[in-house]
Amino acid sequence: MPFSNTHNKYKLNFKSEEEYPDLSKHNNHMAKVLTLELYKKLRDKETPSGFTLDDVIQTGVDNPGHPFIMTVGCVAGDEESYVVFKDLFDPIIQDRHGGYKPTDKHKTDLNHENLKVGCPQGGEGWGREGRGLRRRRREEGGDDLDPNYVLSSRVRTGRSVKGFSLPPHCSRGERRAVEKLAVEALNSLTGEFKGKYYPLKNMTEKEQQQLIDDHFLFDKPVSPLLLASGMARDWPDARGIWHNDNKSFLVWVNEEDHLRVISMEKGGNMKQVFRRFCLGLQKIEEIFKKAGHPFMWNEHLGYVLTCPSNLGTGLRGGVHVKLAHLSKHPKFEEILTRLRLQKRGTGGVDTAAVGSVFDVSNADRLGSSEVEQVQLVVDGVKLMVEMEKKLEKGQSIDDMIPAQK
Ligand code: ADP
Ligand code: MG
Repeated sequence: MPFSNTHNKYKLNFKSEEEYPDLSKHNNHMAKVLTLELYKKLRDKETPSGFTLDDVIQTGVDNPGHPFIMTVGCVAGDEESYVVFKDLFDPIIQDRHGGYKPTDKHKTDLNHENLKVGCPQGGEGWGREGRGLRRRRREEGGDDLDPNYVLSSRVRTGRSVKGFSLPPHCSRGERRAVEKLAVEALNSLTGEFKGKYYPLKNMTEKEQQQLIDDHFLFDKPVSPLLLASGMARDWPDARGIWHNDNKSFLVWVNEEDHLRVISMEKGGNMKQVFRRFCLGLQKIEEIFKKAGHPFMWNEHLGYVLTCPSNLGTGLRGGVHVKLAHLSKHPKFEEILTRLRLQKRGTGGVDTAAVGSVFDVSNADRLGSSEVEQVQLVVDGVKLMVEMEKKLEKGQSIDDMIPAQK
C-alpha cells in the first residue's frame, strides 16, 4: 500500500485527461462527485500549506470501496482544504451528512444533562410498538441500556489544533509540537481526569497489543484508509495515548486527528459515559484556548477534522451490542439506516463482527448537536435490543420497524 506522495510538479506537464484517476470501479463519495471537469478546475490549486487536489483524493483513489462502510474517499490536509476545494467537498458533505447544504449552520450542545436515557424520543418515526415501549419506559422511571446485550459504551470525538496542518499533511515538527501541547494540557487535568501520557515509541510490542485488544488504543497503521491518506507517515513518531487512571477517559494523539477524545466503560451506562465525555472535553478545550491554541471550528462545518465524515460534532457515540438474531434479520440494514445508525465490526472500522457483537453508532455528525446524536444512539439501541428479545422468543418485529423518514 503506497504512502501518499503526490507532490510532483511535473504532473502539470500533462493534460487533465492524462492525470485524471480511473474511478470506474469505485464506490465512495469522492468518486461520485469528481468528474473530469471538476478535476480540471481544481487540479492546479493548493492550500497555503501546499495541499493539492491529488493529496485530497489519494485515499479514495487507492481504496475503491470498503467491505463494511461507505467511505468518503478524501481527506483534508489543513483547515483551508475545505475552502480551497469547496467545489469537491460541499457535494460530498451534502451526500454524506443527510443533505447538509453549503449555507447550513451547525449546532453544538455539550450539556450532558440534556441527554435522556429514560425513554426513547423517537417522535413520529417510531412504530406502534416503539410508542408503547416509550410509554412503558417513562412509567418505569428510566434505565440504562440493558447490559445483558450492551457490553460497552463509548463516545469519542476529534479535535484539530488551529495553526497546524492535519495528520495527512503535517510535518514531523508540526506533529511533535501538537504532541507537546497536548501532553502539557492533559497533564494539568485533576480529579477523575488525572492521568498520564504513554508515547507509542516507549511502549513494548506487548503493551501496545494489549491496549489495542482491550479497545483502548488505535490499531497499528494497517488500515488502507489510513495509509493511503498519508496519515501514517513517520509512525510511531509523536503518537501516543493519554488516559486517566482507570482508563475511562482517553486521548489519542496524532492518529487520524490531532486529538481524539474518548470516554468509555463496560456496560450500558451511556449517561455516565456522556457526562465524562462532555466535562473532560470542555476542560481540555479551555486549556488549549488559554494557551493560545484554540481548536479549529466554524459556524458552518462545526469542528474541522481530517475526514469529512467527522465534521460537525466529530462525535461517534456507540455501543458494542450483541444482536445474534437481529443481525440475521433481512431488515437489519434497513432498520439501522432508518434509525440513522451505522454498524462496524467488533475491532473497529476495518474488522468484522465477532460473535454477533456489533459496534453500533450514530451515522450523522453534522447539523445536529452532540446531545441529539447520542440521544439517537440511546433510543435506537434500546429499540434494537427490544427487537432482539422478541426475535429470541420467535415473535415478529414487523410492527416495531420505524417508518421511513
Ligand atoms: P473510531 O475511529 O471511531 O475511534 P474505530 O472503528 O477506529 O473507531 O475503532 C477504534 C477502537 O475502538 C477499536 O478497538 C474498537 O473496537 C473500539 N471501540 C469502538 N466502539 C467501542 C465500544 N462501544 N466499546 C468498546 N470498544 C469500542
Ligand atoms: Mg478510526
